[in-house]
Amino acid sequence: MTTFPYSDKYPINFKLPENGLDPTEVIETLNDIAKHEDAFWETGKCSGTMYCGDHEHYDFLNKAFSLFAHVNALQRDMCPGVTKFEAEIISMTLNLFNAQEVKGSEPAGLITTGGTGSIMHAILAYREHARNNLGIKNPNIIKPETAHPAFDKACHLFDVEIKIAPVDPVEFKADTDWIRQNIDDNTVAIIGSACNYGYGTIDPINELSDIALQHNIGLHVDGCLGGFILPFAKDLGYEIETFDFRVPGVTSISADTHKYGYALKGTSVLCFRDKNLRNSQYFYLTGWSGGKYCSPGMEGSRSAGLIAATWASMVKLGSAGYRKYAKEIFDTAEMMKKTVESYDELRILGSPSFLFSFTSDEFDIYHVNDFMKQLGWRFNGQQYPNAIHMAVTRPQTKPGVAESFAIDLAQAVDYAKAHKDDAPLSGAIYGGVAGGMTQEADEVIKMFMAQMMDEFQQVPENELRQ
Ligand SMILES: *Cc1c(COP(=O)(O)O)cnc(C)c1O
Repeated sequence: MTTFPYSDKYPINFKLPENGLDPTEVIETLNDIAKHEDAFWETGKCSGTMYCGDHEHYDFLNKAFSLFAHVNALQRDMCPGVTKFEAEIISMTLNLFNAQEVKGSEPAGLITTGGTGSIMHAILAYREHARNNLGIKNPNIIKPETAHPAFDKACHLFDVEIKIAPVDPVEFKADTDWIRQNIDDNTVAIIGSACNYGYGTIDPINELSDIALQHNIGLHVDGCLGGFILPFAKDLGYEIETFDFRVPGVTSISADTHKYGYALKGTSVLCFRDKNLRNSQYFYLTGWSGGKYCSPGMEGSRSAGLIAATWASMVKLGSAGYRKYAKEIFDTAEMMKKTVESYDELRILGSPSFLFSFTSDEFDIYHVNDFMKQLGWRFNGQQYPNAIHMAVTRPQTKPGVAESFAIDLAQAVDYAKAHKDDAPLSGAIYGGVAGGMTQEADEVIKMFMAQMMDEFQQVPENELRQ
């Protein structure tokens, strides 16, 4: 068993402490752990995940959060403030995607717990709409291979069939011919990403829109990652294909406020072209003895604190704030991409913007990762082909980070060339890069889950007997 985190410093609470701990001590423990862990990404050497990385902004969000953290967003009679915050977050997001130009339907939205939450609600809405209004009993959707696993998870949970369209191996965009050929009478929606998590490439949304309109089916654009940064790229002179509600076949868009929206973790916005589609997944139980029950999404109680903090982030930054950060991120990504492109041995996959993925045809790119890891870098690993990616966030825009990327990468390429006949130490796992994938992949992933979830949560028998 791997050692229990921090067991060298703090006792392990296998059961509730009998008398409770001194609150100052509790906060000191949390502060100590947080400071230690923040130091890792504060260097700017970590891809994605810490989108804002600005402690002043975090303090501001935490203040907003603290004022409403105890409030349940489900009990609206007590907190009309949440109705204001939620409506405005949805409206501002819809506006960012130009929903004000939509004719013939009423756009609407839903705040969820994250990208997966938004994608799950979208799939549920398409399923329910198809069932109730179109008589489709066995619905399917088509996603490009590069679209997020949350679509597969949603289909798994909601018993929707998922068909996986290939992407072209040069531009890493959805194969629209394949999609055209594989739509059938039970297809309720197709998916495009703007941009995808792996390569940062944007699917041909306008072409997907034509296909969706022709077959009268939904088109969900996954803007979980790009939704709050790509809309500002055009003003900055970057060419980004239009992917929002101005594209007539786009019926829903997911965008994560907890990524480039610079809000706290735990929120995302799901936008619909037509309110009826959103409402199709509402749940009602009117005859329950506990009272008439209804909820707008899958959650019951929800934190008003997170909604208040998300609202606070959006109105504090405004368009100008988001644009400024987008510029810094795009400029940094350009510098880092130029560095990668300066090596004949390295190859960027497709034509990405703020998130770029690279591989090598001369050595296993995980050698580069192995070396960079020693220098404190944390990339995200990919497979088929082996590649590593960097989602540029605000911590990389700090002075000197792109420069140290260049210096460190030079050494890493030398190391990879020298070790090209050896097996690299790292392999691909979402959200990070795991140790050697020498065993069967399923076994490795189960071990990884066990480490994360089980081993540390089992109460030893002797503790139970005490
Ligand atoms: C992060 C991400 C998701 C999933 O979001 P979570 O917030 O992790 O649930 C979906 N799609 C893309 C493109 C993402 O980057």
